[in-house]
Amino acid sequence: MRLVLLGPPGAGKGTLANLLRDHLKIQHISTGDILREEMKKESPLGKKTKTIVDRGALVPDDIVTKIIENKFSEDNLIHQGFLLDGFPRTKLQAEDLDKILNPLHKPLDCALYLDASRKIIIQRLTGRRVCRHCGAVYHIHNRLPKIEGKCDVCNGHLYQRPDDNEETIKTRLDVYIKSTAPIIEYYAQQKKLLKVDGDRDSEKVFEQFMKRINETQRSH
Ligand code: AMP
Repeated sequence: MRLVLLGPPGAGKGTLANLLRDHLKIQHISTGDILREEMKKESPLGKKTKTIVDRGALVPDDIVTKIIENKFSEDNLIHQGFLLDGFPRTKLQAEDLDKILNPLHKPLDCALYLDASRKIIIQRLTGRRVCRHCGAVYHIHNRLPKIEGKCDVCNGHLYQRPDDNEETIKTRLDVYIKSTAPIIEYYAQQKKLLKVDGDRDSEKVFEQFMKRINETQRSH
């Protein structure tokens, strides 16, 4: 399957993406993870994008679209199936994705839209801790690791993303509303949008999406 995952930062996209990836056996590609990896390596791309990412703004469209195109061709993902998380984030990126997929007759199957309220988003993001090694997500109130500061999965070091502070979260939400919300309309018009409320827990959200995906597959 070829899927994109949409929704504001903190809606729970990363957690849901891991569940979908394991269930559907497709690769999960997060442009945010790729950019953080490049920043960690201090590669030319990482150095170029660090100040933009740290202040919660969007990296230029051509840079992120190139990242996705490279990923697609490296792993033959257009044929194998994928779940894009954090891309597209602007209408231009959504149009460019269609321009890559449609000529190959491998269009996107669904756009999964995980919505969440502003209050829940701020609570989730300010308390979020992430494993530096495997990306597993924890929370200081409701998802504590067994050993403080260590990942349960791989024993990696847990850290707080520099853009997970209240000031930057507000910028990221504003950027989301301005740039990303029009994509919802774009996929709704294509009749590809499946929406689920992300204020609920991740297992429930996953079940809801699987039900909706299966319904769509049956109707085709
Ligand atoms: P995320 O992990 O998805 O919250 O992404 C973290 C940051 O990476 C964002 O706040 C942006 O600065 C940058 N980023 C990730 N994906 C994109 C994208 N598709 N377009 C532009 N910037 C992006």
